[in-house]
Amino acid sequence: MVHEVQKLWPVAKGSFGLRKNTCVRSNCKACASGKGHPVHTLHIGAKDRNTSIYVPEDMAGVVEKAVSNCRELERLMMLAGERFIKALKVERVRRKK
Ligand SMILES: [Zn+2]
Repeated sequence: MVHEVQKLWPVAKGSFGLRKNTCVRSNCKACASGKGHPVHTLHIGAKDRNTSIYVPEDMAGVVEKAVSNCRELERLMMLAGERFIKALKVERVRRKK
């Protein structure tokens, strides 16, 4: 389990995607056409933390990987909880005998 988790590093939790940015130039064709300037962002939406982090183009690949690692890690944690509770129950039955 620990080894599996190690392989899933680094992790990033949030939704990764493109956000349309507008710039300060007054005569920008991209902004005027509504296309804007798409930038990669990692959006973190949690109870105590709600923010969007700008991710430079050259880091987009690793961040995307970290986000998918996080999903896989969450799946592992879910399975770990299931296994843990099952093991506790088995243990209790064994002790009663
Ligand atoms: Zn612009």
